[in-house]
Amino acid sequence: MTYVISEPCIDVVDRACVDECPVDCIYEGKRALYIHPDECIDCGACEPVCPVEAIFYDDDVPGVWAGFTADNERFFSEALPGRDEPLASPGGAAKLGPLGVDTELVAGYPPQDQ
Ligand code: SF4
Ligand code: SF4
Repeated sequence: MTYVISEPCIDVVDRACVDECPVDCIYEGKRALYIHPDECIDCGACEPVCPVEAIFYDDDVPGVWAGFTADNERFFSEALPGRDEPLASPGGAAKLGPLGVDTELVAGYPPQDQ
């Protein structure tokens, strides 16, 4: 099980959750952040600090955003645009910094009004 970042993060990316994560498993794409499902320890520290309530325990992701559970996983398991290899398990987001790319799902969203 894992926590999941869903649609409301798109085009917000304020990184408030990153500061709370004790294992540095929240990775920054271009328009959203993604939680590594195997590196997350399910501590729940990130969930209450999100200003737009984008973070859910995977059992609790609202149905309309159910696709984001697999999509967070895809960010690591599939090769992203411009990369030959999947990210796999980097073991920490800080050393990578903003990756500048998103999954197809997130990249396909129209700009989100804030
Ligand atoms: S639940 Fe804990 S370990 Fe998982 S992403 Fe949130 S802060 Fe990090
Ligand atoms: S706190 Fe919420 S909106 Fe901010 S980067 Fe994290 S998931 Fe996205």
